Amino acid sequence: MVCGKKASVYVSYLGDYLCAEHFVEYFERRVYDTIVHFRLVEEGDRVAVAVSGGKDSLTTLYLLSKFAGRLGIKVFGVAVDEGIAGYREYKLEALRNLAAKLGVEIYVGSFKDYFGFTLDEAVKKLKEKGLVIKPCSVCGVFRRYVMNAVAREHDASKLATGHNLDDETQVFVMNALKSHIDGILREGIISDETSATLVPRIKPLYLIPEKEVLTYTLIMNIYTPFVECPYIVYAMRHPVRHWVNEVEDEDPGFKYRLLASKELARKKIKAPYKQPTYCRVCGEPSTNPICKTCLYRAYLDEKYK
Ligand code: SF4
Repeated sequence: MVCGKKASVYVSYLGDYLCAEHFVEYFERRVYDTIVHFRLVEEGDRVAVAVSGGKDSLTTLYLLSKFAGRLGIKVFGVAVDEGIAGYREYKLEALRNLAAKLGVEIYVGSFKDYFGFTLDEAVKKLKEKGLVIKPCSVCGVFRRYVMNAVAREHDASKLATGHNLDDETQVFVMNALKSHIDGILREGIISDETSATLVPRIKPLYLIPEKEVLTYTLIMNIYTPFVECPYIVYAMRHPVRHWVNEVEDEDPGFKYRLLASKELARKKIKAPYKQPTYCRVCGEPSTNPICKTCLYRAYLDEKYK
């Protein structure tokens, strides 16, 4: 309790109740301080915000455009149309509405334009081939490719994503379960991967729990339609998310302790510097001779082989 007004939000890890006004002030200050403390941007940066139209990315776009003057940066949005009928069109509409209100430009790249097929078409093929590769694996790799390409085409010096504390802890657990140590060491608040063609990625909501982002969007009327991607049922993240949330409910602060463990591991075992290498087919940054985007394209598109 800060001011004695009616409480709207209980912040469990603080063990305190806040009214809507103080919650908004607390939330915005934390995001701003995170950006400044970790030097996520510098004056003159052109920051592309990767917006999916979900609450996290819309909040990132909203806050970065709010802070743009103070931070001396230029902000615009980049989005990907994967071609998921009954889902993507609604999210893009929400994004365009918010962007129009904020007066920021949005640039959209589609799977169809970049790869010649939509995700719906790709999933049909994946099913025909027995779903050995899951839709989210293809989608994640293609999205990252398109997002980076669109940001680069518009001279972005940083690419901000809406990853929050929950996303980070889920990815950490999934990487740990798969003994994917490289993934753990690489995934921080600023991307460690460097190359001339990869726009450096930053995560302003890195320390913010998903529930708080949701509360903020409700108080601030940042609207996103309640539609879920039909392919989410194939994601491994689903059970991990449930488990992390259950433990957090029983033991508040669990997510922060998970994140702290990851950061300690990252500090102790520094990822070895690797000279940037590039895909032999498309020329984009890749740790393997042929990048995953090209491998998936070849797997899905007979013409491309
Ligand atoms: Fe893509 Fe999977 Fe997310 Fe759907 S749930 S948008 S397929 S990553």
